Amino acid sequence: MTILVINAGSSSLKFGLFDAEGFGELSSGIVDWRADARKAELTVVTGGSRESFIVEVPGYGSAFGHVQRILGENGFVAEDIRAVGHRVVHGGVEFRSSVIIDDRVIESIRQLSDLAPLHNPPALMAMEAARKELPGVPHVSVFDTAFFRDLPLKDIVYPLPYEWFEKWGIRRFGFHGISHEYCALRAAELLLADVSGLSAITLHLGNGCSATAVLGGRPVATTMGFTPLEGMMMGTRPGSVDPGILIYVMKEKGLSVKGLHEALNHGSGLLGVSGVSSDFRKVEEAAARGEARARLALDIYADRIRSAVGSLAAVMGGVDALVFTAGVGENSASLRAMVCDGLSFMGLELDNMLNEKSRPDAVVSKEKSPVKVLTIKTREALFIAQETARAISGHRELPGETF
Ligand code: ADP
Repeated sequence: MTILVINAGSSSLKFGLFDAEGFGELSSGIVDWRADARKAELTVVTGGSRESFIVEVPGYGSAFGHVQRILGENGFVAEDIRAVGHRVVHGGVEFRSSVIIDDRVIESIRQLSDLAPLHNPPALMAMEAARKELPGVPHVSVFDTAFFRDLPLKDIVYPLPYEWFEKWGIRRFGFHGISHEYCALRAAELLLADVSGLSAITLHLGNGCSATAVLGGRPVATTMGFTPLEGMMMGTRPGSVDPGILIYVMKEKGLSVKGLHEALNHGSGLLGVSGVSSDFRKVEEAAARGEARARLALDIYADRIRSAVGSLAAVMGGVDALVFTAGVGENSASLRAMVCDGLSFMGLELDNMLNEKSRPDAVVSKEKSPVKVLTIKTREALFIAQETARAISGHRELPGETF
C-alpha cells in the first residue's frame, strides 16, 4: 500500500508516493506551469530514472489527473493508495494538528484563505480534485502552522493595541512548521541526541526564509509571524522592516495597498536589492562578477540570518545545534560560511572542508565545536506521509516522543 502526498503551490503541484509501511519514497515529481499558464512541464522521478514531458494543464484537476496517469504508467495503481496527504500552509488557530478532510474542514480552510491568499486556494483546488478522483480513501490535511500551536503567549501577541489581538486575531502564527519540525527531529537523530534535551535553531532558507528556536522538540520562538512576510530577508520579500516606512510610502509617495502588496511580496528581498534575481545562485554569480548591489544583497541576507540566530539563541539561553536547510541552506557552502563567520563568539566553529565537501545530511562543524552545525535536506513530503499515516490510524505521537 502507498501514501500519496500532494503539495500544491501557486503554479506547480508537487507529489510524492511513499510506501505506507516503511515510508520509502517510491516516486516523486512536479507539474510545473510557472513558465506557461496552460502548458506544464511534468517531471517524474521513479527509482533512478527521471523523465520529463510537456502536458496541457488548464487547472489543478488536470494536473492531478496527469499525476495519477504517470504513476499508473510507472506501475503504481490507484487501488494501492491507502491515503492522500495534502500540505496546507495556513491552519489558523483552528487546526492544531493534522486532520482527516471532510466538507467542514474544506470550508474552514477556505475561510482561512484571506490570511494566506497565495497559498491556501491552490491547496483547496488540488484537494477538491484529488477527493473527486480518489473518493474511497481518506485525505489528510497537514498544516505548516500546526507545529507552532503552543508558542508562548508572549511570542504570539504583538506589542500592538491588545484589541487587535482580541478582536481581529492579529497574532503570530509561524510558517514552514513541517520543515522546522522535521529538521529538529532529524538533527537529534544525526547527533545521536535525545530531542527532549536539545536546543536547536533551524534555518529554512528557500525562496521563503524562516528561523525557529526548537527546545526539546517544541518551538519556542520563530521569525515569521502573522504572515510569511516577517523575519529574515527572502527571495522577493524583505522580512522585517520599519513599519513607519510603509506608512510613509503610502502617505507621501502615493503607493496603493495593491502596490505595497506587490512590492513586499514580489519586489523586495534578494531581487529588490540586487536588481538581478530572486534566485540565490544568480545573485551569487552577479556578486562574483563584481556587481555591487548583488554583493550588498548577499551581505544583508547573511546579516539578517546572523541576527536571527543571535536572538533565537538568546531566547533559549544557548544553542546546541544550528541547522541549515532548504535550497540555499542545503546547497550554498559560501552562505553557510558567511553566517557562521560572525558566530564564533557563540562557540560555533565551522569545519571549512566539511562545509565545502559534505552533502546533506551532514555535520559540518569542527569536532570540538560546542555548537554543532548541520546541513539537512528538508523532506517535507516524507513528513507529510508520516503525519498522514498517524492521522488515519487515529494516533498522533507528540513530536519529540518518537521519530
Ligand atoms: P522553495 O522555498 O520554493 O521550496 P527551495 O527550497 O527550492 O525553494 O530554494 C530555492 C532557492 O535555493 C533559490 O534561491 C535557489 O537559488 C537556491 N539554491 C538552489 N540550489 C542552490 C545551490 N546549489 N547553491 C545556492 N543556492 C541554491
